[in-house]
Order: sequence, then structure tokens, then C-alpha cells
Amino acid sequence: MDRYVCDLLLTMAGPESTPIRGGVVDVEDGAVAWSGPASEAPDGAGAALHHVDGLLMPGMIDAHCHTPMVLLRGAGEGLPVDRWLHEVMWPREARLVPDDVRIGMQVGGAELLGNGITTSVEMYFHGDAVAQGATDVGMRCVVTAPVIEEDQLSRFGTWEEQLDEMVATRDRWRDDDLVDVGLGPHAAYSVSDACLRRIAEIALDQDMLVHIHLAEEEWEDAAIRERAGLSAPEYLESIGLFDADVLAAHGVWVSETDIDILARNDVAVAHCPCSNTKHASGMAPVDELVNAGIRMAIATDGPASHHRLDLFEEMRMAIRLSRLHHRDAQHFPTTKALRMVTAEAADTIGRPDLGRLTAGCRADMVALSMSGPALQPVIEAEDDPIARIVWSGSPAAVSGVWVDGRQVVEDGQVSTIDIIGATEQMTETARRLAR
Ligand SMILES: [Zn+2]
Repeated sequence: MDRYVCDLLLTMAGPESTPIRGGVVDVEDGAVAWSGPASEAPDGAGAALHHVDGLLMPGMIDAHCHTPMVLLRGAGEGLPVDRWLHEVMWPREARLVPDDVRIGMQVGGAELLGNGITTSVEMYFHGDAVAQGATDVGMRCVVTAPVIEEDQLSRFGTWEEQLDEMVATRDRWRDDDLVDVGLGPHAAYSVSDACLRRIAEIALDQDMLVHIHLAEEEWEDAAIRERAGLSAPEYLESIGLFDADVLAAHGVWVSETDIDILARNDVAVAHCPCSNTKHASGMAPVDELVNAGIRMAIATDGPASHHRLDLFEEMRMAIRLSRLHHRDAQHFPTTKALRMVTAEAADTIGRPDLGRLTAGCRADMVALSMSGPALQPVIEAEDDPIARIVWSGSPAAVSGVWVDGRQVVEDGQVSTIDIIGATEQMTETARRLAR
């Protein structure tokens, strides 16, 4: 058994998620065996003892990402989403081979880990290569290769072939502790009716998560209305897709009726505030979604969408937007934001064993050094550690990261791959794709 002793412990259990001063986490076989105040810890005789300077918290979960798009980071800067996709992203993505995706996932995965993110929900081409890249670097991921019916991307095969490949990928990775595989229809507007109906059948039959973009841009609504005379949520409910477990990214342009539909079908939503603001897509009605009882996470979206894979920044953006919108400085508590990248993010992917450091959960942990100038001073009587992390925390404070009990970041550096070599290889690949 390994025993981690820290100055501050955030288990993120329960809505209050009260910090524990002087905490202990016992880890055995990749899982948390016990956590709580050091004064109440069970006998630790024989345990390997590790002192963590600062704070220990659950690894963060990025509920919507396209990590291998680090290969395309910065391309098409300033274009609106539809031109950015058609003119820059899709022509380059049409050239992708599996090894490109694997190197992108390795380097992007190293970045995620270094930023305190231990799990990502991925929507990207060549799902096998995404899973390989993630496991190369030692992170956990939910792989959902996109199904998209777009002429420029025809080399990824017909939608039937893409769906067969996704189910085969799930079967290949079934016994891997770090990889889950779901289905990734790109969006209601970019996938045909027949394909979406088949995805609903497969998802229910094979018990696979469906991960889809939903109501990101205002024009999407008109596209679905033209096809079906319905809003995207109405349409997806009508064809049975919402009978499956669904994680929808964005949820910006949703009406009250749409929110009712998401709530009654228990569809989870990944809120991506930085991507939505950078692309001027709009602002998701977070309060209305939360108040309707919808499971919600805060996520980054892909690194080509807004450069950063930083959930500290996303938390701040989510709070700032919401407070400004309501003109209320007490709106959107910091604890809620931190829960939306840990415990509540885990709930959006049906993994209650993630995002919390309580007995029985997987030992995905992040150590934050609290001694940096940005996190000082600390006057104990008035200290609120969660507010400190949410407002002043950054990847620079991440000193150690563990996934399934294995340390993958030491002294702030990813220890599982040769990051310099991998980055050089990624740059070469990015140049080739840009040609
Ligand atoms: Zn996205």
C-alpha cells in the first residue's frame, strides 16, 4: 500500500467538498483504499509513505476534447467556425494517418497530464491511435471516433464502415483499464438521419456512450429544421438517440423546450466557455441547464478551437461569464466550478469511480504546490482553498500527477514519454499536414 500525506486534501465528495487540513490518501492496486484526516487514518504500518507538499485533489476530467488537434493548433486563426472547418481543419484532417493521430495524442496527452487533467473524452479520427497515444503517455480516456458525412473527409470510409470500426475498436480495448470506447457522431447537422438512427441502435445494444456536438452555433438550428422541422434536441429525441447515454458538447443555442428534452432524457452537457467565446458562438444557459437537473461538466474543446487545454482557465471563464450575465458577484460558486471538472464531470460519463478521492475510486490524483506567489498569502482564519485554486491556480502549480495509482508527472514534468522527441515529431507532422 502507498500512503500519501498532504497539507490539504480535497476529496470532492459531496456538494460541499470541504477541504481537509492534514489529509491522508491510502492507495492499493490503483484504487483509493482510504482517505480522510490524518488524525483518523487507520494503521499504516508497512505502507510506503509519500509526503505531498501542498494540496492533493482528484485528477481533473476534460469532458469534451479533440486532443490530437494539437497538430492543427493556431491554424485558421480568426475565421468563423464554418469557414475554419471547411477551409482549414477538414483539408488537413483528410491527410491524417493513424501514426499522426498517435503522436498528436501523445504530446497533447502529456500537456493534459501536466495541466492536472487525468481523463479526457476524445472525439477524433482513428480511434485506435487515440487510445494508443493516451495509453503511451499513461492517461485515461474515453475514445469516441467521429462519424461525419462530409465529402472532404470521405477517405475515412462510409458511415457504416466507420461505425463497424468503432465497435471493433471497443472490442479491442475492452480489457484495458484506461480506455473506454463510445460513439462520436459529429453533430446532428453533419450526420444523416439513417446513420444517427443506426448509432442509437448500436449504443443501446452495445451499451456505448454517445458523444455529440449539440447546438454550438445558431445556424445549426436552421439546418435541422430544414431537414426535420424540429430543433436539434427535438429531432435527436424523436429518432431515439436520447434513449442511449448521451454526452452533448456545448448546448449553447437551446430553448426552454430543448432544456426540458435534455433533462427528461438525462442527456449530460459539456460546457466549453473559452471555445464558445473565442468563436463568438454564444453563451450556454448554464443556470437553466443546471437548474433543470442536467449533469454538467466544464470542458476545453479541442486545442485548435482555442489553443489551451487548461481547465483552470475554463473554470474562471465559466464563472466570469455567468456572474457578468447575472450581474451578481456571488453567482456560480467556485466549489461548483471545481466539481464540474472533477466529480460532476465524472458523472457526465457514467464513471462515479472517477473525479473523487474516496474509498473505491480510482487513484487519479493531482498534487498542487500551494507555495507559489500567485497562491499567497494564506491567512488561515479567512482562507478558502477552493477559491484560491479556482481563481489563482494554473498548470504551473501542478507538481505531481497519478493515474490509476501510477505517477506520470514528477516535479511538474511528464515522466512517461520523451517529450522533446515527441514534440519534434509532432511539429514535423503538423508541417506535412499544412502543405
Ligand atoms: Zn468539439
